[in-house]
Amino acid sequence: MIKLRNIKKQFKHNQVLKGIDLDVQKGDVLVIVGPSGSGKTTLLRCMNYLEKPDEGTIEIDGFTVEGSHASKGDILALRRKTAMVFQHYNLFKNKTVIENVMEGLIVAKKMPKKKAKDISRALLEKVGLAEKVDEYPSQLSGGQQQRVGIARALALNPSVILFDEPTSALDPEMVGEVLSIIKEIAEEGITMVVVTHEIDFAREVANRVIFMDEGHIVEQGTPQEVLIHPKHERTKRFLRRLT
Ligand code: ADP
Repeated sequence: MIKLRNIKKQFKHNQVLKGIDLDVQKGDVLVIVGPSGSGKTTLLRCMNYLEKPDEGTIEIDGFTVEGSHASKGDILALRRKTAMVFQHYNLFKNKTVIENVMEGLIVAKKMPKKKAKDISRALLEKVGLAEKVDEYPSQLSGGQQQRVGIARALALNPSVILFDEPTSALDPEMVGEVLSIIKEIAEEGITMVVVTHEIDFAREVANRVIFMDEGHIVEQGTPQEVLIHPKHERTKRFLRRLT
């Protein structure tokens, strides 16, 4: 589903990604862990070209983009294959909950309003927000806003959903409700890549984990291999610090 080859990215003099190769299979739940600043979010954002890689190729669901010289059409096509769930939800504040979910269907998919509304209502029910459809984001808790973000991503019916630290802006008591929705979606077989600090979630939900440090993938494998029996000293140190 995703094939990255030699992805490099530099901000000024800071080489953040140092040649990343990564394969994600259809139905994979890939969790990316690693210390702050190791390049996890940048890698995720390169996948849909929210960050432009300096080098390398990105292939998603059969569509290939050369990192450093993609056309506008290429970028649009790549973005249509993915949906992103952001740390800070990125909802439209002046639109209601249901309008936030409908937006992508009407604008990107050119769907008639009635159909977009029916699909959005069903997805909001699925994430437990049937009662909130006509409210505005500011009337919702952080956990509820993030569930709108998830419904919005699902509405696009993408080949892969990218989660960028989806619970790290939430109050602790709201983390569980969001993780359990993500777990439910994962069990439906949707391909997803999740950047998170929630190691218990990674252990429970991921089928593959990669550990990144300083712009490299240090270690990858099953949650058992990477998070319970890591081979590399760097991974061990990271996990020790978290426990
Ligand atoms: P992580 O997600 O692992 O915490 P990031 O990918 O967010 O790491 O960041 C990796 C490094 O890149 C950090 O040193 C960060 O400061 C830097 N960085 C990220 N985005 C930008 C940007 N837009 N401009 C400049 N530096 C950035």
